[in-house]
Amino acid sequence: MKTLLRGRLLTFHADPAETEDNHRYIEDGALVVENGRIAALGRYSDLAAPEMVEIDHRPNLILPGFIDPHIHFPQVQVIASWGVQLLDWLNRYTFPAEGRYADPAHAEPMASAFLDLLLAHGTTTACAFASVHPASVDALMSAAEARSMMMLAGKVMMDRNAPDYLRDTPQSGYDDSKRLIARWHGRDRLRYAISPRFAITSTPEQMAAAGALVSEYPDLSIQTHLSENHAEIELTLSLYPHARDYLDVYETYGLVGPKTLLGHCIHLTPREIAKMAETGASAVFCPTSNLFLGSGLFDAEGLRRAGIVTAVATDVGGGTSYSQLQTLNEAYKVMQMRGQRLHPLAAFHWITRGNALALGLANRIGSLQAGGDADLVVLDARATPAMALRAERIESLAEELFLLQILGDDRAIAQTYVAGRPMKPARAA
Ligand SMILES: [Zn+2]
Repeated sequence: MKTLLRGRLLTFHADPAETEDNHRYIEDGALVVENGRIAALGRYSDLAAPEMVEIDHRPNLILPGFIDPHIHFPQVQVIASWGVQLLDWLNRYTFPAEGRYADPAHAEPMASAFLDLLLAHGTTTACAFASVHPASVDALMSAAEARSMMMLAGKVMMDRNAPDYLRDTPQSGYDDSKRLIARWHGRDRLRYAISPRFAITSTPEQMAAAGALVSEYPDLSIQTHLSENHAEIELTLSLYPHARDYLDVYETYGLVGPKTLLGHCIHLTPREIAKMAETGASAVFCPTSNLFLGSGLFDAEGLRRAGIVTAVATDVGGGTSYSQLQTLNEAYKVMQMRGQRLHPLAAFHWITRGNALALGLANRIGSLQAGGDADLVVLDARATPAMALRAERIESLAEELFLLQILGDDRAIAQTYVAGRPMKPARAA
């Protein structure tokens, strides 16, 4: 059966920070959805046909669903934990919370709650760190499969500098990852991501095991953390005394390439910047987390000019919101502190097609394209009294997007579609 969604369509085919011809906007637009895919898109008057069920989202905007390329699923009860910076925050709050995910009776309801939160905030795909326990990946992947979501996730590999109950070994981390890849990668819309947590929590032997997985499964994404905090960098270099710098730890074990997502990348050296540009590894900006943990100000403009692929993510639970709109709000402010400007078109490109490119999934998600997956978000720029008042003085699409970016959150998400299915109850008129 075909469904026609009517609304104001916005999609990007190039980065507004790089190219003048970058987006397509159709004021009275229509998307024809069939079998979870976009069968056609264009003007409503060209596509309307009597046999289709119509859902009218006017005057709201319809965009590709948001993509969150760095988030920690076992931190849903860690978000908003007070008073410390990265390493103490991990030890005091995060590690004890992650310990509970060995138990499926805890992991399963948390996985459902986590995915429902993402959908309520307009996010249809995420690349998530699970806990060290295979049960946590099973819980998350099962819940994503039940919702038909395109989801990437992996168990963190961590064999030192963590409590006993959160440590695997080089061999068990490798074996468990392999079993999970066989069970989940490529099933329905699911992808496995190889996930050494970060250099501090892995021995050289475990890094080598992660590298072995990468060479066995070259099409998998790799996710980890890089240069978030000065104490973290110092400790990393003391644990890997032969490394030229932090990135060199990952390079040494074959973990840096175009499929690699490096969270944070705040305090990079010129050599690291050049190497990331050369290898095509992505730098993932996590603005709410970087401010919350006092980590520093990401140099979005500088890294982009150096030729590095950048992505933008919530990093819940170091991050303070599941909303990619609120993430863009904080990204705008971080860039202001660096004298850089984030144009609203570039911002919305970033959380859709930009993040899809970083994940290597732009042929399927991140833009409205015939044949692409029907993962969509419907945005209401008048969702709250304050937004409605401001919207009265809006004169352009860019102004409307900026209003959504600064004042919007889950209340501005009128609907979220996953593979053509509405996943959020429609708001009362
Ligand atoms: Zn993280």
